[in-house]
Amino acid sequence: MPPDGQTQVVLLLGHPVRHSQSPRIHNAAFVAQGINAVYVACEVDEGSLADAVRGMRALRCWGANVTIPHKQAVVPLMDEVSVEAEAVGAVNTIVRLPDGQLRGDNTDAAGFLDPLERRYGDALEGASALVLGAGGAARAVVYALLTRYAVRRCTIAARRAAQAEALREAMTLYDSSGGLRTTTFADAADAMPQHRLIVNATPVGMTPDTEARPVPAAGWASGHIAYDLVYTPRTTRFLRDADAAGADTVGGIEMLIGQAAAAYHQWTDRTMPLDVVRAALNASRS
Ligand code: NAP
Repeated sequence: MPPDGQTQVVLLLGHPVRHSQSPRIHNAAFVAQGINAVYVACEVDEGSLADAVRGMRALRCWGANVTIPHKQAVVPLMDEVSVEAEAVGAVNTIVRLPDGQLRGDNTDAAGFLDPLERRYGDALEGASALVLGAGGAARAVVYALLTRYAVRRCTIAARRAAQAEALREAMTLYDSSGGLRTTTFADAADAMPQHRLIVNATPVGMTPDTEARPVPAAGWASGHIAYDLVYTPRTTRFLRDADAAGADTVGGIEMLIGQAAAAYHQWTDRTMPLDVVRAALNASRS
């Protein structure tokens, strides 16, 4: 339906946002469900974030997504934050509450878990996971693995030991089995046989460097689950190597859709029509 006097607005605040898939995802869902709302991507410079959030309040937007580089900086601008946002130290979703207050949430952990839940249910409880990278996404991943599956061993492999150690320390609170540890990025390949789930939370393999791999092809075995957060290209070298060895694979587009669905539900109280969203994303590739 074309926008009218009652159209609700949801924003994406980030920089750059030009290539974001989020407008495609949310607008396809709004249209399919006859929801009178529009999702608009806004380029927001680092110095303008507070103004953008003030503008959201003034315009009574339904909410927003927040992306690089603002996910951490937006936290203190919220009236309240969810347990997940607090734990991950970042907000990727803002919801305007009925009293006008802005609540910050982080749906990356839920989005990461979504495809795993659908495929494996509870079967990953107490499993082991090797997480490559120790940045913002790795933080959501480690939090999700510890709180949902109480993984018995969770190893963070990062090229900067201090970054991996900082993440380990921040997540100790959620480590009920005491299996959280760190290793170097160079030693990640040696650690692969001791872990079932291998998660790439680095940009290695992302377009245009699509032949790059964070771990060697020889490290894969058929019992592994390979989960790449990178979603451009859809099938990364990491996933192709794992698939060739007979491992299960999960692509980053599933997490992207999962985190979007968790945000959409908060704005609309509706379940995102995933088939419609997948079709819209596929159409954008052709
Ligand atoms: P980030 O905060 O910048 O962290 C990236 C991590 O990867 C850091 O630990 C970084 O180490 C490491 N890294 C970067 N280049 C590396 C290399 N060549 N070799 C080894 N380690 C390297 O980024 P992020 O937000 O966590 O995002 C990580 C990836 O996940 C990106 O590709 C992003 O697009 C993707 N992602 C996907 C979703 C989804 O929904 N599918 C959601 C969030 C993120 P240094 O700090 O030393 O560089």
